[in-house]
Amino acid sequence: MDKSQYRRRDRLVEEKQHDTYREDKKWPEPTACKECNAVYIEGRWTWHEPSLKTNKVVCPACRRITENYPAGYLELKGTFFNKHHEEMLNLIRNEEKQEKDEHPLERIMTITEEDGQTLITTTGIHIARRIGKAVSRAYQGDLSFTYGKSEKSIHVIWSR
Ligand SMILES: [Zn+2]
Repeated sequence: MDKSQYRRRDRLVEEKQHDTYREDKKWPEPTACKECNAVYIEGRWTWHEPSLKTNKVVCPACRRITENYPAGYLELKGTFFNKHHEEMLNLIRNEEKQEKDEHPLERIMTITEEDGQTLITTTGIHIARRIGKAVSRAYQGDLSFTYGKSEKSIHVIWSR
């Protein structure tokens, strides 16, 4: 196999990966996630009760979690943040609950504390943006968003 064939294979792998995380992918209805029981019905993922005849797959959010492939990164830092850490994480958890109730594919993946800052990874870009905005609304501070290629990923930084 020469070099150009290798390159082509890499590209195919990349495209396939993107496809597995696609939130607008069409599934047969009803389809349920065997990990989290989210149900795909009427063109979107919901928390309906799965029926017995449901087609079983792994939803894009669970796939991201299993493969550790976040769509959103949210960094929180600063002396104010460190002082109000617990309180702010409660607000963040509450925002996650509201978003996830309505949109099953929008979830927090991990919360990591390191060197006085906290990194939160998420399965969707909307929840990362929502949390950033909620924190900024409640505590002011500096908020910035950076989007990745075709807005499939987001990096949010908040500091105070
Ligand atoms: Zn799932």
